[in-house]
Order: sequence, then C-alpha cells, then structure tokens
Amino acid sequence: MTRDFFISLSQNKLLNTTAKRWGLKLGARSVVAGTTVEETIESVKELNALEISCTIDNLGEFVFEEDEAIQAKTQILEVVEAIHEHHVNAHISLKPTQIGLDIDYNFCLENLTEIVDVANKYNIFVNVDMEDYAHLQQTFDLMNTVNQKYHNIGTVIQAYLFRADDDIKHYKDHRLRIVKGAYKESDKVAFQYKKEIDQNYLRLIEYHLLHGKFTSIATHDHHVINHVKQFVEENNIPFEKFEFQMLYGFRKEMQFQLAQEGYNFCTYVPFGSDWYGYFMRRLAERPQNLNLIGKQIFNR
Ligand code: FAD
Repeated sequence: MTRDFFISLSQNKLLNTTAKRWGLKLGARSVVAGTTVEETIESVKELNALEISCTIDNLGEFVFEEDEAIQAKTQILEVVEAIHEHHVNAHISLKPTQIGLDIDYNFCLENLTEIVDVANKYNIFVNVDMEDYAHLQQTFDLMNTVNQKYHNIGTVIQAYLFRADDDIKHYKDHRLRIVKGAYKESDKVAFQYKKEIDQNYLRLIEYHLLHGKFTSIATHDHHVINHVKQFVEENNIPFEKFEFQMLYGFRKEMQFQLAQEGYNFCTYVPFGSDWYGYFMRRLAERPQNLNLIGKQIFNR
C-alpha cells in the first residue's frame, strides 16, 4: 500500500514540476549529489578517493517536448566532458525517456547515438537504465542498434519480470546491471511476491557471473551481497568480472567496506533539479527512508 502510494506520487507531473522550483528539499539532499555538474564532480572525487567508482545520472522525468530532450542530451554531454576533463573514475547512466523515447523512437536513437559516440572517444561506458515495462522492448532495441557500431553501451535486467530469464540469456555478451526492479508492474508480466523476486534475482546474477560479460550487481540487500561473495569464491570468478552497485547516500558504511575488501564498487550518483520522482521511488522501495524527510524537517 505504502509502495503504491509513493509510486503514484512519483508519477504526479504537477508535483514533479513544482518540486523543480524548490531546490533539493524533503531530505533529497542526502540521496541526490547536487543540482549542478560541478557539485556532482566534487562528490564523485570524494567517492573515488575511497576507491569507489561512480555512474552519474542526470535526473529527468516526464519529457514530452523535443527541446527538453535536447536539453537533457546537452547536459549529459556536459557530464561526459567533465568526467574526461577531471579524470574521474565514472561513467554515465541515462533513461531513454529523458532523451526523447516518449516523443519519437528515431529522435531518441539519434540522441543516444550522439552521447555514446562522444563517450566512446573518451572510453566512457554508457548504461541505459531500464524504466517501466511499457518502454522495455524499445530500450533493448535502442541498445541493439547502437551496439552494432559501439561497444561502450549496456543495459539493465529486472528480476521481477518473467521474461528476464530469456533476456539474460539473449544479452549474455553484454555488460549488464542486474536489479530487482523498481516500478509497479502487472501480474501478467511480473512476479508480485518478494520471495519469488529475490529467488529469481539470485538465479539471474549467478547465470551472468558464470556465462556473461561484466556483471553489475545493483542492490542494498546484504543477503544478496553475502550470497554473491560466497558464490564467486566457490566458482573462482575473478573480481574483474563484476562489481557491486548501490545508490548514492544508501548504506554508506557498507559501500566503503566492500571497496575496502577489494571488490569493485560503483555508486550510482544522481544529480539535477528534477529529483522529485527519483526520491519518491526510493521512498516506495523502503518507507524507512521517510526518516530522511523527518530529519530534514526537524533539522531546520
Ligand atoms: P530490497 O529488496 O529493497 O531490500 C532487501 C533487504 O535489504 C531489506 O529487507 C533490508 O534488510 C536490506 N536493505 C535494503 N535497503 C537498505 C538500506 N537502505 N539500509 C539498510 N538495509 C537495507 N530499478 C530499475 O527498475 N531499473 C534500473 O535501471 C535500476 N537501476 C538501479 C541502480 C542501482 C545502483 C540500484 C542500487 C538500484 C537500481 N534499481 C533499478 C532499483 C532496484 O530495482 C530496486 O528497486 C532497489 O534496489 C531495491 O531493491 P534492493 O535489492 O536494493 O533491496
């Protein structure tokens, strides 16, 4: 119930637009690195100093106008340039709808190709985040098309989807991030129970670790992390073949600890004024994050 409530808040366009004018509020500062590229690069440098690499996401939702998509593309290209200029250990995460997927597939493809092309010159990887099921097939299509020319591109497999089993096999030669899945999907396409999702999640991770290219295991779940640690040891899987990922501001001690233990660790660093939908989805996943709001209100 709480999950549905926050997911519906995340989809409210009016609140989304209003929040852009607020600056980082409601505790969002603890999970969003900043509103500018400069602030974000500073946060990335701090994480790099702890042996943690980063994937930078320029937040953006509800893009239905071409000029907004072009603006998002320009900002992402600015981040690519900044990564190169500051020699930071970071790559890009982006959402297809932010660069025009809801406007026109080919327009989005052009924008994505331009970003991947520039990133490729600097040897920077681009991850295409997976959004809701309605955008899934087009997201795979975008990646497949761009991948014909460039190899610095990958995407995400969501364990709550029934089709994830087939997708992980189909895309085994790609660098993949594997997640449980963050959107509300129907029981026609997705598991609804946590136990089933968690079991499928482990199955997919194990498959890609054994048969796939590089695996990003993106979770805050210590049960999964402990399972993976044991699995890689038992199966002699080298550390270069995988990394753990967590979101900026979550389980910071554990992020640092894993990096200290010698595992590749990558923090997902979101930034920008369009933080509202992202923040509401984090509250949907874990209502305890409401503490963040509480602290912000009482710490004024
Ligand atoms: P959960 O299933 O939420 O929690 C499992 C257990 O872990 C909890 O019971 C608790 O014991 C522990 N735990 C979890 N969080 C905390 C915490 N903050 N503090 C203490 N204990 C905790 N989803 C998509 O659909 N598409 C994407 O492209 C995508 N990219 C992602 C990238 C990254 C780096 C990450 C981390 C997540 C991404 N997600 C994405 C979201 C993902 O699908 C899940 O919704 C989200 O990660 C919650 O699941 P979980 O595995 O972290 O743990």
